[in-house]
Amino acid sequence: MLKIRKAGYHGILLPEVGVGLDYSGTKAQHIFISHAHADHVPQNKKLSVYATPPTASFMKLRGFRGTVTPLPFGKPLETDTARITFYPAGHILGSAMTFVESDYGNVLYTGDYRTPPSPATEGFELPEAQIDTFITEATFSLPIYKWKAEKELANQIRSFASKNLEQGITPIFTAYNLGKAQELMFILKELNHPMQIHGAGYKLCSVYEEHGFSLGNYETYDRESCEGKILICPSSALGTGFASNVKKKKVAYCSGWAANESRQTQLTVDELIPISDHLDFFELISLCKQLSPKKVLITHTPNPRVVQHYLDGLGINSGFLDLEAVDNE
Ligand SMILES: [Zn+2]
Ligand SMILES: [Zn+2]
Repeated sequence: MLKIRKAGYHGILLPEVGVGLDYSGTKAQHIFISHAHADHVPQNKKLSVYATPPTASFMKLRGFRGTVTPLPFGKPLETDTARITFYPAGHILGSAMTFVESDYGNVLYTGDYRTPPSPATEGFELPEAQIDTFITEATFSLPIYKWKAEKELANQIRSFASKNLEQGITPIFTAYNLGKAQELMFILKELNHPMQIHGAGYKLCSVYEEHGFSLGNYETYDRESCEGKILICPSSALGTGFASNVKKKKVAYCSGWAANESRQTQLTVDELIPISDHLDFFELISLCKQLSPKKVLITHTPNPRVVQHYLDGLGINSGFLDLEAVDNE
């Protein structure tokens, strides 16, 4: 089995083969970035890393000043001691699971992922090989997180927009700027109604278009002309004046956390839409069962013990790779 080290706040190091995963230290010869969310991109901006072509574009647009070598899905990189391949992770456009094969064994690192995948991604795909060590995120690591069917959520999103527009009310969806915003656009474009997107999310949309994901009829947010459009912004923007000039408006909060009742009571919004870019608890457990790796290492989670308890029940050996759980949701 390959040795695995937690390395700093976010990263993982495989010391025997010199591979770093979402890693920003100096001990890896080859570093692979799972996706462009800030909690996975190295803070050390001078590093040279590999990422999928969309992730490389997002990183550059978001100010990464190191070197990013694009590595497409399914095209392995061979080093002296390992073979590394990206597989689609279904989380946001370009998000990848990293599969590392070596004489010491193999490791599949999920980064953030979702299966079934988000429709605004390249899908979700697993390596065919038997997995030795499965390093999985577990953001939604309690059995209270069970997602509704994708179609049901898409209907809720479209009907929130159309029923408010019919009544002369401007609908606002809160969603983080990379991934969730574009997934909502992808779902809402069917309404053929103009959308305005917060500037920080708008500038990332071109990468979706370049990779064949048309996001519909949209423009960047403009305070003077936003009334009557479908608006999308991060929830933080609502506190700093976004659309504050629009009198008749309603807000939908779009996040997996909306499924948690204690969070619901803290939020002052008009609608809760529990759409997540991560898999739910039951999808996580059933994927572990399907893969039946020699070991599952859990990261990126507030509740590793609960996941471990369920894996114990399936006879799957597991451990907690002690990373901090931080995410954009
Ligand atoms: Zn992410
Ligand atoms: Zn993350």
